[in-house]
Amino acid sequence: MEEKVYRRLLILGSGPAGLTAALYAARADLSPLVLTGMIPYGQASLTNIIENYPGFPQGIGGQELGQLFEQQAVQFGAEVIYEQAEAIDLSVRPFEVKTFSTTYQTDAIILALGASHRKLGVPGERELTGRGVSYCGTCDGWFFKDKDIHVVGGGDSALEEALFLTRFAKSVTIIHRRDELRAGAILQNRAKSHPKIRFIWNSVVKEILGSEKIDGLKIENVLTGEQTTVPSEGVFVFIGHDPNSQMLNGQIELHPDGTVKIDEHMMTSVPGVFAAGEIADSHFRQVVTSAGMGAAAAIQVTHYLGDL
Ligand SMILES: Cc1cc2nc3c(=O)[nH]c(=O)nc-3n(C[C@H](O)[C@H](O)[C@H](O)COP(=O)(O)OP(=O)(O)OC[C@H]3O[C@@H](n4cnc5c(N)ncnc54)[C@H](O)[C@@H]3O)c2cc1C
Repeated sequence: MEEKVYRRLLILGSGPAGLTAALYAARADLSPLVLTGMIPYGQASLTNIIENYPGFPQGIGGQELGQLFEQQAVQFGAEVIYEQAEAIDLSVRPFEVKTFSTTYQTDAIILALGASHRKLGVPGERELTGRGVSYCGTCDGWFFKDKDIHVVGGGDSALEEALFLTRFAKSVTIIHRRDELRAGAILQNRAKSHPKIRFIWNSVVKEILGSEKIDGLKIENVLTGEQTTVPSEGVFVFIGHDPNSQMLNGQIELHPDGTVKIDEHMMTSVPGVFAAGEIADSHFRQVVTSAGMGAAAAIQVTHYLGDL
């Protein structure tokens, strides 16, 4: 028979928002249970170095920062379990969250489900994922030693990852659909002055070519419509993220971009369900802002549960 487990507070997600919420909730004696999902420590764990999280003047690895977040939350009584929420039922009280093995019942939930990388949606992408198409430089960069590779995107993540990939690749060409980058000035300067980095401006990828591995990319100039094929041995895609809110569709109010609507107290349209981090924020999207939202959500949950 399926196991049912009651916890006063469930936190879904173990990125900066979820683990900071866990720290605050643990310190408020709520004994929170965190379900990590498939990416323990969240997106931050996918990056080699984080240089803008305060308190680490030399920068800190994403995994390492996540481990410290977890250690601190657990030290005060949070429990962290490597499980994925497969269904959430907000129509019953207590709420129910189902994982592979267990149904959790809870009086309050903090949704810290974060966001997932966006795909190009072009022919060849799905077939060649893991055979030259990647969404994580830190995870896969090593496989591209001395290769000529491409990075798609023009934001902070794209440039950070392109710079990281120069450690392995012979050359890194950044394909960006505009003629200026969205990334911060420091990263832009580093990328533009790096001897291994080149740019293809005003262009989008239309197709990824190859069968067993990538041979090249078909790209289109968005100003002229001209299509060309460039040889490539790998492509890393960093073109943005979509909030992981699909499971909540129809149960909770969402913004048109899929982020969860929250009020000034971090509460969603369902009383008792709170949200923090990139699941509810498509604007700031930083470790520090997500962690801040996690702290705020946990403080509000403490008031909410205290009033029940
Ligand atoms: C390559 C890269 C580099 C970055 N570099 C920086 C940087 O230098 N500085 C900076 O400030 N920010 C950086 N960011 C952004 C930063 O990582 C995010 O803003 C931050 O991680 C968002 O935190 P979050 O907790 O809201 O969500 P996420 O980090 O997205 O975490 C979401 C969590 O939810 C879990 N989850 C998802 N679905 C389920 C489910 N069904 N059940 C249970 N759990 C689930 C996941 O496993 C994960 O643990 C970078 C992002 C990327 C991708």
